[in-house]
Amino acid sequence: MKAYLFILGSRDQLAQESSAKLAHDAGIQEKDIRVIDNLAERAVSKDPLLSSLFIDHEDYMAGASRPRAAQALLSFAGVDAYSNRITWKALPYSEQALKDEYGVPWFPVIDRSRCTGCGTCEDYCLFSVYTSNRKSPLNGRIRVSSPLNCKTGCPACSRLCPTGALIFPFCAEAALNGSVENPQPRTQEDALTALGADPHKVLSERRAKKRLIDPDKFKLAENDRILYSGVL
Ligand code: SF4
Ligand code: SF4
Repeated sequence: MKAYLFILGSRDQLAQESSAKLAHDAGIQEKDIRVIDNLAERAVSKDPLLSSLFIDHEDYMAGASRPRAAQALLSFAGVDAYSNRITWKALPYSEQALKDEYGVPWFPVIDRSRCTGCGTCEDYCLFSVYTSNRKSPLNGRIRVSSPLNCKTGCPACSRLCPTGALIFPFCAEAALNGSVENPQPRTQEDALTALGADPHKVLSERRAKKRLIDPDKFKLAENDRILYSGVL
């Protein structure tokens, strides 16, 4: 038996008819849909409710405004949101409401279906939002380990991810907030624009810099935030 969920963000104000639309498309009554609200807040606090979502039934239909963002948020919270037991359906939402209310909690999540574990995000971020165990060939997985270290309004690292795997759920920019189903991979030119002619050198310098507490680090990060925000 298939169970139905309606995943509701608190700030992007999904159109109220979304639950009805999911019910209509699935040929069920709206009362049979379970509504999960405040997904980002629940994910960042690792709300135990999330780990109980996909355990009672064999198959699920999950409706969300931006399924890629919902999957990445659930995955961040430890839920296997990429399981083939779950069919995801994109539902309408208000882009303007997201623009008006963009903000906190501001943090990146990783689209696990696209991340290659290259480590660019980890090297680039000066605030240790990401960690990994890249020295181990068996466990090179990048994790968002300190999400709230991320600077509100800074989506800088997402512009460098070569596969478009980084999602900022509260960013108004469609290419960065999970609205776009198949984001374009970043080009070599994008990397050159952002990192200069020697990206490896820049990343390695940033990697070293993050171990130091110095005013330059914050100045550099603030410049990144202003340069790359696209939403301020
Ligand atoms: S930059 Fe993108 S692909 Fe590389 S580790 Fe980070 S999220 Fe994964
Ligand atoms: S957006 Fe900026 S502060 Fe946030 S994780 Fe990326 S580089 Fe770090």
